[in-house]
Amino acid sequence: MAYITLNKKHFFNNLDIIADKTKSKDKIAVVLKDNAYGHGILEVATMAKEYGITKAVVRCIPEAKMIEEFFEYVLVLADIPQISSDKIRYTINDINKIDKFPKNTKVELKIDTGMHRNGVSLDELPDALEAIKNKNLKLEAAFTHHRSADELTSEWFWQNENFEKAKKILKDLGYENVRFHSSNSASTMRHSNIDEDMVRVGIAIYGCLESEVFDTDTFKPVLSLWAQKNSQRKVIKGQRVGYGGICTLDENSVISNYDFGYADGFHRLCSNNYTTPNGEKLLGRISMDNSSFLSDADELLIFDDARIMAKSAKTFSYEVLTSLKHYIKRKII
Ligand SMILES: *Cc1c(COP(=O)(O)O)cnc(C)c1O
Repeated sequence: MAYITLNKKHFFNNLDIIADKTKSKDKIAVVLKDNAYGHGILEVATMAKEYGITKAVVRCIPEAKMIEEFFEYVLVLADIPQISSDKIRYTINDINKIDKFPKNTKVELKIDTGMHRNGVSLDELPDALEAIKNKNLKLEAAFTHHRSADELTSEWFWQNENFEKAKKILKDLGYENVRFHSSNSASTMRHSNIDEDMVRVGIAIYGCLESEVFDTDTFKPVLSLWAQKNSQRKVIKGQRVGYGGICTLDENSVISNYDFGYADGFHRLCSNNYTTPNGEKLLGRISMDNSSFLSDADELLIFDDARIMAKSAKTFSYEVLTSLKHYIKRKII
């Protein structure tokens, strides 16, 4: 079966770079949503804990339950609980949903500083705070998210200014102990000094951050995908391989078929247009459960940097990684 290896040294290297920015491991919240960007939520939680990380961010309650024991603090980005919980904090994404949270729930208020996706606007903020108080929710933090932190534009700056305005509204209304956080990976790298309480880092800890604003060479990709040989054959010049016969061999060759296909997360747009890190060429269309390469190796390293595969799939590393199915075995090395 195809399998994934996770390079712990690279993971720790990436956390070192972030810790250098935050000056404290306690300010780092690792983003483990969507099976830890396809890396395996339990595997990454284990490594993060070993490194000394105490905080994590997930998408939903089932993910939070899976990793609760590894951390002191878990933030759920989008789910409303039935009962309040000690370690788990929940995000308020919409002023009209405040009523749905059970009394005493620890909540964090998402502020819409310009992305216009989730959160309450600055205008709604006083009413939202009133509703939180009336509902007896425990407001622990206010946070926001940038829409273009990885791009060299003014957007990051004016969103920061809007978040500063939100902080001032909270302080003026007497919310002195509310924590603040606004930075994802790209935003964390843009700050020379993180004076907020926490950063929420995803793609950088997995080593696949890309940006036109700052150097990302020091980050090292954590995940490699390996596939195993199903079969091998000799084909002669002029024969064609796979569905539709779109790939014609231009010389007599030995080719093999490997157990990684589009159902496993191999983007079909890579068909006939991808070469592995070791130079083996993908031949023809990717099938559901397998794909053919110009190789006789028993095992193929399909990719060790999702950013490169992403180019051939006309997408970005986030999608390549989160497409990898849960059932693929993950090994920490
Ligand atoms: C996914 C997500 C992050 C992490 O973003 P990266 O670009 O992977 O660092 C941070 N904050 C929120 C709200 C998110 O949804």
